[in-house]
Amino acid sequence: MTVGTIAVDAGIIRRPMLAEVVANRPLTPHLRRITLTGAEIDRFGYDGPDHLVRIFLAPAPGAELHLPDSAQWWPALKAMPEELRPVVRNYTVRRLDVARREMDIDFVLHGDGGPASAWALTAAPGDRIGVFSDGASYAPPADTDWQLLVGDETALPAITAVLEALPAHTRAIALIEVGSAEDEIEVRTPAGATLTWLHRGDTPAGGSDVVIRALRELALPAGTPYAFVAGESAMVTTVRRHLCTERGIAKERVYFGGYWKLTAH
Ligand SMILES: Cc1cc2nc3c(=O)[nH]c(=O)nc-3n(C[C@H](O)[C@H](O)[C@H](O)COP(=O)(O)OP(=O)(O)OC[C@H]3O[C@@H](n4cnc5c(N)ncnc54)[C@H](O)[C@@H]3O)c2cc1C
Repeated sequence: MTVGTIAVDAGIIRRPMLAEVVANRPLTPHLRRITLTGAEIDRFGYDGPDHLVRIFLAPAPGAELHLPDSAQWWPALKAMPEELRPVVRNYTVRRLDVARREMDIDFVLHGDGGPASAWALTAAPGDRIGVFSDGASYAPPADTDWQLLVGDETALPAITAVLEALPAHTRAIALIEVGSAEDEIEVRTPAGATLTWLHRGDTPAGGSDVVIRALRELALPAGTPYAFVAGESAMVTTVRRHLCTERGIAKERVYFGGYWKLTAH
């Protein structure tokens, strides 16, 4: 059903909606959990633990936030005058509480002037943001015997939400790359799952081979796998190639998401 330019199905709103910051707290020195609230957040929709939320930020710190008022937010955004056009970035819904109309998003602070990371560092109660629900990708087929979850800290919200949602005895192996022990968080891991933190140390994010080295040494269980791999694009591509070419896992049983791309500063 479409109301004006707004597509609505089963009460879900398919356009960017306004929200504001309720709380901003550090989980680690490089990870902030930002809690948002909004009058419409109970109609955001939620399809699974890696649910994609597109965030809309004011074009400059302190500037007013204008949101494209359409389900086709991309052409609407492009049609906006440049000085009003919000900055859009991709994040994961870490928690959605429909009853309280609240959403948590965990932001990696990567400290190089990226607008979303910079916003998360200083966001304070009352600050405004737009959020658009864009579906989930994690989808293990019904015949899956075991799961492999691989990612860097940008995939930490998705992988921890997957682990929390797994039935107790589902066999799962999670490998997560972070900078160091201080970047680890507490994760509720079901009985059938193991979680290994991989530290890249002084190597900058996106430049480390700790993930592929750990994978090469990993004995994979027998049976039919499903792999969820997300993080820096080159890492994800290398992992996917390893799983499909060297481990013989069928391509369609590997989800891979390039969550960010290392660029020269
Ligand atoms: C489906 C999906 C879900 C995602 N979920 C999350 C999430 O829950 N939490 C989260 O923190 N990120 C998540 N990301 C990644 C996030 O969208 C990117 O890190 C994004 O580039 C951050 O925007 P920015 O404005 O801070 O930096 P940008 O303006 O995009 O980039 C500025 C510079 O920072 C570098 N950069 C970007 N991200 C990182 C990083 N993580 N580490 C080091 N350097 C970086 C870029 O190479 C570039 O040089 C997700 C991405 C996708 C596609």
